[in-house]
Amino acid sequence: MTDELVLEDRPAEGVACLRLNRPSVRNAQNLDLLHALDDSFTRASMDDTVRVIILAAEGTDFSAGHDLRRTLRDEPAGAFRSQGDATDIGAAGGQGYMAREREAYLGLCRRWRDLAKPTIAQVQGRCIAGGLMLAWVCDLIIAAEDALFIDPVVAMGVSGVEWFAHPWELGPRKAKELLFTGEAWNAAEAHRLGMVNHVVPATELQDFTLALATRIASRPAFALQAAKRAVNATLDLQGQRAALDMAFEIHHLCHYHNRERFGQEGDPSGMPTGVKQKKSKP
Ligand code: ZN
Repeated sequence: MTDELVLEDRPAEGVACLRLNRPSVRNAQNLDLLHALDDSFTRASMDDTVRVIILAAEGTDFSAGHDLRRTLRDEPAGAFRSQGDATDIGAAGGQGYMAREREAYLGLCRRWRDLAKPTIAQVQGRCIAGGLMLAWVCDLIIAAEDALFIDPVVAMGVSGVEWFAHPWELGPRKAKELLFTGEAWNAAEAHRLGMVNHVVPATELQDFTLALATRIASRPAFALQAAKRAVNATLDLQGQRAALDMAFEIHHLCHYHNRERFGQEGDPSGMPTGVKQKKSKP
């Protein structure tokens, strides 16, 4: 047992494996975990012996999403690694909250999505809301047969998670249905929609992902980087970057509306009985 929030190893030549390590809370993401993951990604990126990075998770579930018990509002301004919005992190109202989420969610996700090395998400169990963000920013996704994906935050009065890639990952029509209903989709459905590359039995997930990573790692590193850049640039030229930025602003309109209209983070009409007065933070 270790209290490291992200475990790192090098399971094969050319391959780094990063493992989210808060299994007792189903790898819920607080700011410390996100920073630890960012550090691990940076180390793997800077390590010349690493050509492919696997993002995996300890325990039964990939990630339960953002940790609602300690939200970005609860963090002191000094806890953030402020980049572009440094002056706004400590600001009151929507100004500060938007800067916090832009940095810790949108900003980190964008950085990880554009890492110069191929990344593979290895997903088992539940992958909820903020969990989708971590999987979606990886280049490839391998899912165990038991993987279950869901973004239920419309029920909380918010458009969707901060990294609003749903239309790109699921297609616009299924994206709308899955957002409107808040229903989960399983690994087979994710594969059918093109959201995941392969679905394998849970007992084979690790070996399958490592074998794929090893095959990729044997190929020329700069050409891998070039292929990744070309695909990501294509998506950006199709408007993905601008669409994500716009959707993030819409997401914050929801946060603002909920606080003004209901005096809390969420729209209580969509929440299950018993949690209507509980603090929630999509
Ligand atoms: Zn938010």
